[in-house]
Amino acid sequence: MAGITLKKSKLSSAVRSKLRGYYANVPGVDPSYVDARWRQWEANPDVFVYLARSDDKVKGWIVYNQAASTVLDILAVDEKEQPEALFRMMDVLIDVQSLVSAEIHKADEHKYRWMIEYGFRPTRSLRANGAPLLRMDLSISLLAERFHGHKPVRTYRKKEKVAIQKVPESPGYEEIKKGVSSLINKLGGLRKFVGQGQTVVIKPNLVADHGMMDGVYRGGVVTDIRIVRALIELALPIAGKVIIAEGSSINRSATMKMFVLYGYDKLVDIDPKKVSIVDLNTDNAVEKVVPWGKRMLARKVPVTLEQADVIINVPVMKLHFAAVVSLSVKSLQGAMPPLEKYMTHFFGLWQNLVNIHHLVKPKLHIIDGIIGQEDFGPVSGIPKTMNLLIGGTNPVAVDAVTMRIMGVEPLTSPPVWLAYMQGLGPVEPENIRVVGPSIDEVASPFKHPKIDLASGRDFAIHAGNACPGCKGYLHFAVAKLRRPDPADPSRLLIDRPFERKVNIYLGPATDERINPDERNVFLGICQQHNAQQGGTHLPGCPPHAEVLINGLFSLFPDVERPKYADKTEEAKLEEMLKEVLASIS
Ligand code: SF4
Repeated sequence: MAGITLKKSKLSSAVRSKLRGYYANVPGVDPSYVDARWRQWEANPDVFVYLARSDDKVKGWIVYNQAASTVLDILAVDEKEQPEALFRMMDVLIDVQSLVSAEIHKADEHKYRWMIEYGFRPTRSLRANGAPLLRMDLSISLLAERFHGHKPVRTYRKKEKVAIQKVPESPGYEEIKKGVSSLINKLGGLRKFVGQGQTVVIKPNLVADHGMMDGVYRGGVVTDIRIVRALIELALPIAGKVIIAEGSSINRSATMKMFVLYGYDKLVDIDPKKVSIVDLNTDNAVEKVVPWGKRMLARKVPVTLEQADVIINVPVMKLHFAAVVSLSVKSLQGAMPPLEKYMTHFFGLWQNLVNIHHLVKPKLHIIDGIIGQEDFGPVSGIPKTMNLLIGGTNPVAVDAVTMRIMGVEPLTSPPVWLAYMQGLGPVEPENIRVVGPSIDEVASPFKHPKIDLASGRDFAIHAGNACPGCKGYLHFAVAKLRRPDPADPSRLLIDRPFERKVNIYLGPATDERINPDERNVFLGICQQHNAQQGGTHLPGCPPHAEVLINGLFSLFPDVERPKYADKTEEAKLEEMLKEVLASIS
C-alpha cells in the first residue's frame, strides 16, 4: 500500500453511516450506540475526523478529540487490508500527534485485538451514554521503539543558547557566586530574566535526606546551597521577593526537614523581609488544563509557582536509575503536590513530566554540576566532581548539552525524548549554540548503574522490551530480595522455592506464553492487558517503588517488608493510591 496521508475533515453523515454499518456487525453493541456517540462528538468543538487517503483513494477515518489526544473511533474502508491499513493510519496519526489514547466499545473484540497488537493497553473502564467503553493507552516503550528516529511532531524553530561555566576545584562561596554570575551573563544577564520588583522563585532539588551522611554533607544528591545563596544575592537588588520552593519526593511531608537539614532555612536570614521558603507539597494548588491532554487532562499546580514572575530551576547533574537522567525536564516533578506526584506514576510518568513543562515554565534552568551523581542516582549513586555550571532557558536544550557532557545520548532518556518529540526544545547540536568551553573540553562520562534483573530459582523475570522505567524500578525492588532468606539464610530470598513458579512480566512484549497455573505478576500499563486474564497487576507507568515493593513482598508474607519511606508517609502513599483508584473507577 502506498503512503497514507491524513486530512482534517468534518464529522459527516457518510462517516456516521460507515460507523453504523460497522457496529451493526459487532455483537453486543446497542443499535443506538453510534447515534448517541455521534451527538456527543458533534457537541464537542475539539472533535473532528481525519480522512485517511492513499493513491487518491479513501482508506479510512479516524474520529479524533484533539483536546484529549484521543481516538474516538477508527475504521478502514477495506476489510481485506485490515489490520495493515489500520496500523498505517495509526502510524501516520502518531507522526502528527505523538502519544495518543483511544476509546473503544467493550464488545468490539476485533478493535481490541488489533490495538493490543499495535501497542495499546486497556487502562480503564468508562461509560458513555450508557455504553461500556475501554480506555486504551499506548505503551510509551513501544512508541519509543517504533518512532525512534522520526521527526518531532512539532518542529522547534528557535536556535537555543546553552552556557557552560567552569568553576575552580573545590570552590569557595565567592568563586561559586562569581561562576553563577558569569554563567547568567553569558545568557544575557539577570535583568534579561528578572524585572524590577518581581517575585522570583528558585526551585532547588531537595529530593531526600541521602545527601547528608552522619551529619556530613555529601555532594551530588541535592542542589549545592551555595548556588542558591548566590542566586538570591544576585536577584535581591532587582527582585521584590525571592522564594525558595521545593516539594521533596521521598518522605513528602518532610520538605521543611530537608530545608533545615541542608541549611536552606538559614537563607531567609539574608533578607527576612524579602526572602522566604515554601514547601510545595503543602502549598495551595490551582487546577490547570493540560494542553493536548495527553494521559492527564488537568493538573494541580502550587500557587507559589503559578503566581511567580520568574522561576529558576536548579537541578543537580545526576543520572537516574529509571529516567536515565534527572535534570531540567525530570526535576520539575518536585514542583507538583504529593497526590499529583503519585498520579504521574499512575498515569504515565514520562508524559506527565512533559505536561508539567506546559504548566510550569522556568525562565532559567541552571544545572548544579559542581558535584554530580553517577551510578544509581538520583539518591543512592556516587558523587562525581565536575566543577561545572550549565544554564539556559530551554529545558530540553540544557538537558541535551548536559547529557553530552555526561557521555549520555540525549534521546535515551524517555522524558527528554518525549519532550523533544512534542516540540518542547531541540537536542540537535546544530540547533543549540554552546557558549563558554566546548562540550568536548568539559565532558567526562558518568558511570551508568548496572540494572540487575536476573531471575531467582522459582522467580522468573521476563523483561522483554521494557523501557528503562520499569526495568530501573524493578531492579530497585528486586534488589531487596537479593539478601538471605530469614527462613533459610543459606539462600537468597529470590531463590526461595515456590510450589507455583512466580513470573514477573514487564514491558510491552505480547509473545510471552503465560501459564495461568503459575503465579503471575504484571507490571505497569505495558502489561495491563495480560493482567485481565488473572494474576496480580502492579499499576503505573512505571509503577511507584512503593507499589512494587508491596507487590513483590506480598509473595513473602512471613518477611518484613522493607520501607520505601517512613511509616506515616507509607500510610499516606497507600491512601493516595486508593484515592487515585477511586477517582477513576
Ligand atoms: S509500563 Fe513500564 S515499560 Fe511500559 S512504558 Fe511504562 S515504564 Fe516503560
